[in-house]
Order: sequence, then structure tokens, then C-alpha cells
Amino acid sequence: MDDRDLKAYREAGRIASGVKAWSRTLVKEGAGVLGIADKIESRIKEEGGGIAFPVNVCINDIAAHYAPSFQDRGIIQKEDVVTIDIGVHINGFIADTAYTLDLSGNYGRMLEANELALKNAISLIKPGTSVSDIGEIVQKTITDAGYKPIENLTGHEVKQYDLHAGLSIPNIRAPYDRELEEGMVIAIEPFATNGYGRVIESKKAEIFSFLEEKPTRMREARILLKEIEPIKEFPFAERWFAEKMNPLRMSLALRTLVAEKILEAHPVLHEKEKGIVSQFEQTVIVTGEGCEVTTE
Ligand code: MN
Ligand code: MN
Repeated sequence: MDDRDLKAYREAGRIASGVKAWSRTLVKEGAGVLGIADKIESRIKEEGGGIAFPVNVCINDIAAHYAPSFQDRGIIQKEDVVTIDIGVHINGFIADTAYTLDLSGNYGRMLEANELALKNAISLIKPGTSVSDIGEIVQKTITDAGYKPIENLTGHEVKQYDLHAGLSIPNIRAPYDRELEEGMVIAIEPFATNGYGRVIESKKAEIFSFLEEKPTRMREARILLKEIEPIKEFPFAERWFAEKMNPLRMSLALRTLVAEKILEAHPVLHEKEKGIVSQFEQTVIVTGEGCEVTTE
């Protein structure tokens, strides 16, 4: 990796880490989910970062991909378990990091095991480490504490302007294997749950990403594509464009573009048995001897 890329990864990590620490003060009983997401996204931009994906605010059995709509009325309740997932980029070089706060006080051991699983995974990272060994240590750490890892969510490699590049990092002993190489940048993200240990898709999606350029006939769809153009390398939230057109037309335009495979929808993922879910995530650069955590 050349020095400029390394500098950009570190800067994205520094911003993500700072915003993450600051965001903890926003997560409290009575706070609006929409306000939390808007504030975090504004802060990323104020700090000079680009948004690598809409801020996720996932509550209780929601594991991933929950971004509020422009009219979201969700309010944090005093017993909620809240996960914040933040993505920052500098010139396309990504930092992806997440944490969970337990307002109920009932899931301390689960969160501890989840954090330890992340720490144990990171301690294995160096060139030549097999990704299946990472999955195994995550699984063991979480199951030893009496919880389950989510088996169908994984960490992932990142590359410039590519949030999910190539390599996946499993959270269980996986039937596939690959070795880490020096210079790879990977997001490690174990999830823990007291539920079944799998996520399923809901019907609702607020996060979308651009797939490929194709002609489309619907006028609103073309307007929306023009809006997306400058940020099309990364996933976006429907609410970012809420002021550009009537919400019904926007929703129709999005559905049309998804059906035409110009956009991809990323539905909200929730735990199969409505278990409570936690997540801790760091982005690391694989170095000669081990790794450098950029988002610490
Ligand atoms: Mn993430
Ligand atoms: Mn990630």
C-alpha cells in the first residue's frame, strides 16, 4: 500500500473513531432515531469525511441496515439495546466501525463477549491467518459466554470505493477458507445474540446502492439517478433525497430502479427469533507482523 492510501485510511479511521466516541452521548432514552442518524452524518461531514454508507441505528432484534426514513418517528426506549454503525471515507478509502449500547442493563455479558470476540479476532490477524480460524475464535468466544454469533453476517474486505470487496470474514467456523495478506484492509464485525443466530430480511429497505447504468423510462427515476450520480460508489439512504420529490413518487422510482436492476435494495435484517443483537466492528490494515486498527 502506498503512503497516500495509508494516510487516507488512517484519516478515515481517525474521523470514524472520533465520531463514534462522540455519538455515544446521543444514544439515550427519548432520543429520536432520525435525529441521531442525521447528527452523526453531519458530524462526519464537518470533520472532513465522506459518508461511506448511511448511519445504521439498529435497535434490539434489528441486526443491520436500519437507516431511518425522513419521517421516522422511532424513539429510543429505556430498555433498548442500540447499535450504531458508522462508515467514513477519505477519497474512497473506508473506515467501518460499530458498537452497541445496552440501556436495559440486561445484556452486559453478551456485549462483553461480543467485544472480546472482536478483540480475539483482531489478535489473530497477520499475513497467512485463515479467515476460518477468525470465524472459529469469534464463535467460540461468544458461545462460551452462552450466546450465539450470527452465522449469516460476516466481516469483509474493503478497497477504495468498494465497501464489500472480495474477501468475507465469517463469524463461525466456515466451510470455506482464504488467507489474509499484507496490505489487505478488512472490517471485522462479530454479532452476538440470545436468539437463533441468523438474520432474515424484512420487507422494508431504506438503504440502496447503485448497480449499473441502464436506460430507464420513468421520469422520476431519471431525476433520482441524476441526484445519486455524485455519490454512486457508496450506498445511500432514501431520506437523503426526500426533499427532491414527492415521497410516493420517490418510493415508486426506487422500486422501479430496483426492479430494473439499476439499483440494489438492502432490506432491514432482523434476528430470526427476535433475539436481541449486538455488534462490535473495527477496520484493520494487515501489516507485516500483525495489523493496525484504524478505527480504535
Ligand atoms: Mn459496519
Ligand atoms: Mn462492515
